[in-house]
Amino acid sequence: MFIGHYAVALAAKKAAPKVSLGTLFLSAQLVDLLWPLFLLIGIEHVRIDPGNTAVTPLDFYDYPITHSLLGAMLWSLAFGSVYYIFRREIKSSSVIALAVFSHWILDLVSHRPDLPLGFGGSAYLGLGLWNSVPATLAVETLLYASGVALYLSATRAKDRTGLIGFWTLALILLLIYFGNIFGPPPPSVSAIPIIGSAAWIFVLWAYWVDRHRGQKAN
Ligand SMILES: [Zn+2]
Repeated sequence: MFIGHYAVALAAKKAAPKVSLGTLFLSAQLVDLLWPLFLLIGIEHVRIDPGNTAVTPLDFYDYPITHSLLGAMLWSLAFGSVYYIFRREIKSSSVIALAVFSHWILDLVSHRPDLPLGFGGSAYLGLGLWNSVPATLAVETLLYASGVALYLSATRAKDRTGLIGFWTLALILLLIYFGNIFGPPPPSVSAIPIIGSAAWIFVLWAYWVDRHRGQKAN
């Protein structure tokens, strides 16, 4: 799943209005932001396999640190705890921990059975929404529209950056999503961590936009 994760982050702003959208992006996408680093240092592995599912040309055959159920629980606990240590807000920290964990749940829905339970072993889960492009588009765009609507209902633009910056971000994420689904597979395995790391831009962009938006009264 791609924009589904951003949808969760946007929606989470409603539950934790004090937390920047940048932190929420970081939370919901944490394991996908770390994954390129683990690929680079050779701890996790992926291969290009067009047709692996209808939606992705990637075969995620080895990524237990970022994408196992156990990993998801530990990242969630760790990131929620770090936020709590710095901010001392139990509600915001809980929303952050849940956002981190939501990544695994959404991936569980979309991936074919390639999500491991633990760091070793042979049990893999995945419900395979990605076997259908129309079903994937329907679920993810609906999630995304709801996320955008919730974010807009929780915040208001303080200036033009808060308005235009937000809508540009929201549209670019949507365009990249369609590009991912309908575009060509990555040129090589070594290009995947580079392409994957580009998602950090959206985290920074979200921090920037969120500073130009205030909490909506009511
Ligand atoms: Zn993922």
